[in-house]
Amino acid sequence: MSHRGWETVIGLEVHVQLATKTKIFSGASTAFGAEPNTQACAIDLAMPGTLPVLNKQAVNYAIMFGLAIDAEIARESAFERKNYFYPDLPKGYQTTQLEKPIVGRGNVEIQLADGSKKSIRIHHAHLEEDAGKSLHEGNFSSNFSGIDLNRAGTPLIEIVSEPDMRNAEEAVAFAKKLHSIVTSIGICDGEMSQGSMRFDVNVSVRPRGTTELGTRTETKNLNSFKFMEEAIAREVERQIDLIEDGGKVIQETRLYNGDTKVARSMRSKEEANDYRYFPCPDLLPVIVSEETIAELRRTLPELPDARQARFVAQYELSDYDAGILSSDAATAHYFETVVSHSNNAKLAANWTMGELSARLNSQDLSVAKSPVSAEQLAGLIARISDSSISGKMAKDVFDGMWAGQGSADDIIEARGLKQVSDSGALEKIVADVLAANPAMVEDYINSDESKRGKKLGGFMGKIMQASKGQANPQQVNQLLLQKLNTLLK
Ligand code: ADP
Ligand code: MG
Repeated sequence: MSHRGWETVIGLEVHVQLATKTKIFSGASTAFGAEPNTQACAIDLAMPGTLPVLNKQAVNYAIMFGLAIDAEIARESAFERKNYFYPDLPKGYQTTQLEKPIVGRGNVEIQLADGSKKSIRIHHAHLEEDAGKSLHEGNFSSNFSGIDLNRAGTPLIEIVSEPDMRNAEEAVAFAKKLHSIVTSIGICDGEMSQGSMRFDVNVSVRPRGTTELGTRTETKNLNSFKFMEEAIAREVERQIDLIEDGGKVIQETRLYNGDTKVARSMRSKEEANDYRYFPCPDLLPVIVSEETIAELRRTLPELPDARQARFVAQYELSDYDAGILSSDAATAHYFETVVSHSNNAKLAANWTMGELSARLNSQDLSVAKSPVSAEQLAGLIARISDSSISGKMAKDVFDGMWAGQGSADDIIEARGLKQVSDSGALEKIVADVLAANPAMVEDYINSDESKRGKKLGGFMGKIMQASKGQANPQQVNQLLLQKLNTLLK
């Protein structure tokens, strides 16, 4: 998209926390949310004399990611030390991969709102350890900060894209696709608010029609798709304003605060660290066998694109609906659980994408935290499909389930919502209404056949009223026509 005659160029570096139980070089737990420093062992604390032991599961997860994006898997990769001082890095260096990353070139296909597809090239992905966290809030006054080393040593892959994206929509689509891939193959829990995926966004602009890359800035550590979109929009505007005013973009690292909507410079390239990388003498090269790769390929869970195609074929969903329901592993699983318990894919799709997702969004909940379980939603759908309740009543029942009032059947029972489908009872209501409205009946009989359809609506209204909205409309319609037809003869 052309913007004021400028073209935007974007490349992403993405940190993905791997869902291993223990850290990449120690046996300490990686569980989120523990008391500070209760999950940092001697290795994570960089005690002298300790040695790292590489977590095989972390290596396997990295390989699985490589297989998922059709990348080259390095048969030999190696760890290096990236030296810098920071309080949350007790070792004084981060153990990471530079020259020999485990995952080489690959591709990720994204789909845009207009339905078009685009391939984004992955430069490589490497294994590394996360750092600890500095705590500046809560109990900490402005005079001092705390250090929590629970996160130190959590395994990460850093995925580095080529600068192939041309606007915020493409960058967000790419970020979402990566989220979908890593959660689908189960190598990351995808909890963005807990920092499980963090995005660094490199942005530059250049005059439309030119091919040389402009100077870029890097906005670090974005952990929501919305913030990412905002940060890109602002940075593009800032760079264009700067250049049009005769200035120059300087290569720098920036921060964007999604809550205050303020972006600021953190450090420029001139002040950037010289990391003095060198091969880590404590760790042997990582050798991956053909058998390991073959086995991981064989057991790789279903990928988002394959799942989308399957949803179209198996549940007769539109490509669009299938795309939404399969984009997120947890949503896909929820949907399929609803279908398996209700046997109605169309209603399962409508309710999962409609009422449920609107509710979850409004309360900022992930589907895994939904107050209405898939089994409960299936219970509601069963009552809609067997005509026990109307679509309108179903919304009320859903509200009740959301509020924790029990299953659909419990709520229908408690509120006396059940649709009247008993034909004896319905026949009586129909007969009563006709008997009470002789003028309407007379009018119906005497009208032209082409006008009768419209007049049925009047009867329907009165019957539904008489049944307090609980009569099954299809059945009433049938019974009414039968009755009136006999009067016509
Ligand atoms: P460095 O080695 O300095 O970190 P890289 O070449 O590895 O730089 O690029 C880091 C990230 O920045 C990659 O995702 C890449 O696609 C992106 N990138 C590089 N140059 C540009 C540019 N001019 N505009 C936008 N993104 C860029
Ligand atoms: Mg880099």
